[in-house]
Formats: sequence, C-alpha cells, structure tokens
Amino acid sequence: MPPIFPSSTFAHGNSHGFDYTRSGNPNFRILQSVLTSIENCEYSSVFASGVSAITAVASSLKAGDLILCEENLYGCTVRLFEQIFQKFGIHTKWIDFTNQSALEEIKKRLPAMIWLESPTNPLLKVLDLSTICDAANEVNIPVVVDNTFCTGLLQRPLEMGATLSLTSTTKYINGHSDALGGAICTNDQEWHDRMMLAQKALGLHPSPFDCWLITRGIKTLPLRLERQVANAAALADELATHPSVKWVSYPFREDHPQHEIAIKQMKAGGAIITVSLKGTQAQTYSTCKSLKFFTMAESLGGVESLVCHPATMTHAAVDDETKSQLGIDESLVRFSIGCEDLPDLSIDIQEALNQLQ
Ligand SMILES: *Cc1c(COP(=O)(O)O)cnc(C)c1O
Repeated sequence: MPPIFPSSTFAHGNSHGFDYTRSGNPNFRILQSVLTSIENCEYSSVFASGVSAITAVASSLKAGDLILCEENLYGCTVRLFEQIFQKFGIHTKWIDFTNQSALEEIKKRLPAMIWLESPTNPLLKVLDLSTICDAANEVNIPVVVDNTFCTGLLQRPLEMGATLSLTSTTKYINGHSDALGGAICTNDQEWHDRMMLAQKALGLHPSPFDCWLITRGIKTLPLRLERQVANAAALADELATHPSVKWVSYPFREDHPQHEIAIKQMKAGGAIITVSLKGTQAQTYSTCKSLKFFTMAESLGGVESLVCHPATMTHAAVDDETKSQLGIDESLVRFSIGCEDLPDLSIDIQEALNQLQ
C-alpha cells in the first residue's frame, strides 16, 4: 500500500519533480495512474470534487464562448454554469441530445464546447455518444462527457470520440461515501496541460488523504459494480411489475427508450434505477422514508443503497416549468443500488410499495 504524503512542500530539485502540493503530490500521481488505466487513456488529472473538475474545464473557456449542453445535466453543473460562469460571459444553450436535430444544432451554432452526460440524472436518458462525437469532431468542437454514472468500467467516452471524460470520483470510483473527488481523463496533451494549469492556478487540487482513500476504494470497484449492477437489474424488473409503479427507467431494460444505444455503448445497465410511482408528492415522499435498507439521501454509487426524491431533494430549487419540461415530476424516485443482499432490498421495496396501494 502506498503511504500518505501530507507534505505541502517538497525539497527543491527532488528527482520526482514535486514542488508544492497545489501543483502535484505523490498521492495525486498514484490515483491518476490508476484512473488512466481504468479509462484506457493517456492522461488524467485529479480534483477536490466533481464540481472542481467541471470548474477546471469551464475555466478554460473565455467570455463570449457558448457551451451547448444536454438539457438534463447534473444539477450542480447547471448551477455552476448559470450562476457563476454566466457572469464571466460564458453562455449556455440547453438542448435534448436524444433528438436528431441536435446534430444540426452543433453545425449551426458552432459552440466552443459540447457538454454531455449519459445516462442522465435522474431520468437515465441515454445519449448516442459516438454519433454526437463524430458530428462534433467534424467541426473540431471538443466534447466533454460526464461519465460519473458508469465509470470507465462500464463506458469509455474517449473511445467513442469524446475529448474529455469527467468523473465525480466521490460516487462509484471511491464507493464508500467517505471522500469527495473529481477527475478528467483525456488523450489530448494540450487539454491535459490546461487541466493541470487549472488545478494549480484555481486551487482545485484534492487532499492527499482523499486521493489515498479513493485509490484504496478503486481496488474493489469491479467487485462492487458487479454486485450493484446485478442487484439493480433484478430490482428494475421487479419494480416494473409492481402495481404501484407507473414506469421504470433502466438502460438495459428493453422498454427503455434508448435501449439499443445503451446496449451498444455500455457494458452493463449501471446501478441507478428511476421509477415513477402512482402517488402524490406526499405519498411518494413517505414511501421513500419508509424504506429500511435505503437511506434517503443525495449522492449515489456507494456500497449502501440510497433513495432520493428529486422533487423535494436534488431538484427542489428547479422551477416547476423546467421540471415538467425535463420530465421530473412529484412521483419520481431514484434508487442508488448498493451491495446488500438482494432479498433484503427486494422485500424492503415490495413492503414500501404495497403501502401505496
Ligand atoms: C455528484 C456528481 C457530480 C459532482 O460531483 P461532486 O463530487 O459532488 O462535486 C457531477 N456529475 C454527476 C453526474 C454527479 O453525479
């Protein structure tokens, strides 16, 4: 096991090239090399959180630039662009990238950057990454894919033509809900240099201890994902047949609207399930609260199962019109499936849903 290097500063002229931890540290470098192998790429850079990684990428833009964004991006990405970068003259346009017209929008608007996420949060919409990246590459527009819900084990955006693959390592990569982190993977050296500049110039670096924890977490990533995905696939099928459920969204189920794309670009369906219940906002909320094996909490990807009611939690600040445009209604529930015994999770869900009837 590597030691933890809490050192803030290093003796000048050391053979490893470290000088000050804001611009590099042995624990950053160890984590970077593991992440590079997971995404099968040349370079990776690590940050204090997923949001820090998003900040690093967005800070490479300049006033007047446009980011063409998938309309269902992670909420904190939306807030960062709209409430912070907007003030510096960086504009956003939100479109539905599952729509064929998105490809024409790319050519018409010629944005400085395209920002995608697949599957999206919380609806698990799947975007055709290679088709979108091909269209962007034809006109030399960099594409960022937020790969947090999959990790490089289930989906490799760079191999489908993306310029940057971004991950909140807080989620599956670390997997134990005890550290925050973010990472950018790329094969483009210029982009990597920009990310390393952002790390030190903006002070977006992680802590050596968190990198050490995340590196340790990765050792069980394949095992955890295998169990979580198997649990999720089984629970998605069970949920789909329950009379209290309106619909289920799970990328590897045949009734998912982009099922064909999902099975083409993902190795498995992931461990998030989103359902719409036959109930009011209050009933949906109390159903979530009554679960025993699912803590009601934001975040996802840890070994413990979590449940989230987007309307009152992650998307509480989103106005009603945007929520209804995105399809986030009051009876939506997002499950992050953990590594528990499947029968425990299954019985827990059945009992909670039976109360709804
Ligand atoms: C959690 C998350 C982020 C932000 O990451 P933090 O580590 O919480 O800053 C970004 N994108 C997605 C898809 C996420 O789930």
